[in-house]
Amino acid sequence: MAPSGMNLRDALADADRRRVAIGHFNISDLAALKGVVAAAAALRLPVLVGVSEGERDFVGVREIAALIRTIRAEHPYPIFLNADHTHSLSRAEEAARAGFDEIIFDGSALSFDENVRETKRAIGTSSAVRTEVPKGMGNLTTPAEAKAFVQATGIDVLAPAVGNMHGMLASMVRGDARKRLDIERIKAIKDETGALMTLHGGSGTDDEDFRRAIKAGMTIVHINTELRLAWRRSIESALAQHPDEVAPYKILPDAVKAVQEVVTGRLRLFSS
Ligand SMILES: [Zn+2]
Repeated sequence: MAPSGMNLRDALADADRRRVAIGHFNISDLAALKGVVAAAAALRLPVLVGVSEGERDFVGVREIAALIRTIRAEHPYPIFLNADHTHSLSRAEEAARAGFDEIIFDGSALSFDENVRETKRAIGTSSAVRTEVPKGMGNLTTPAEAKAFVQATGIDVLAPAVGNMHGMLASMVRGDARKRLDIERIKAIKDETGALMTLHGGSGTDDEDFRRAIKAGMTIVHINTELRLAWRRSIESALAQHPDEVAPYKILPDAVKAVQEVVTGRLRLFSS
């Protein structure tokens, strides 16, 4: 799906040059999608919409691709679609056929060699941009592993393990704790590979760590749990405030607004 003006490769190269990051936001429904699109449109920034396998099962692979294509026609800046955390070749193929701009093939549960082999097979399924999560010897990716992985697979974007993790701990949800990143490791991996890089599991990360990680070479930042929290809390409060309301279109705008607010804050931080 080529948007008016810029494809994802160009947008990533541009962000990499300027040492800013493109925000990647997962959605499961139309309310969250509207929130993401409204935030990006108001700030006039490119944005990535992500749908994992579970999210795709709910919204539909061809359905979300059609929605994004339609929105893209009226969006002032590029809006891209990513098949987040794809674990099988058949699901990678399905997304590529539907016209997704990016497919994240997640071989992080495999050994290094299996991960390389499966990633290369996945890359063979289409011409979309891809990222990968190498499984390190320890918990974090080493610069040497990252370089070997990029060279062996030919991936476009690397997703190293640098202290990030998916989801949020209860202490993070309460706001008592923040995730911290290994900035020196990000710098070292960037120097060693020169690759475009994506930071997964960004929800709950310290703001200053985000800034430094992006300056050190992170080109995409993934946010999901923060949006899910905002979505859920806004719907709970809308239902509590209007206990007799049954029209979804009168309840769900609160979710749109709540998601938009989170995305706006994150996009400002990532693009500054
Ligand atoms: Zn992820």
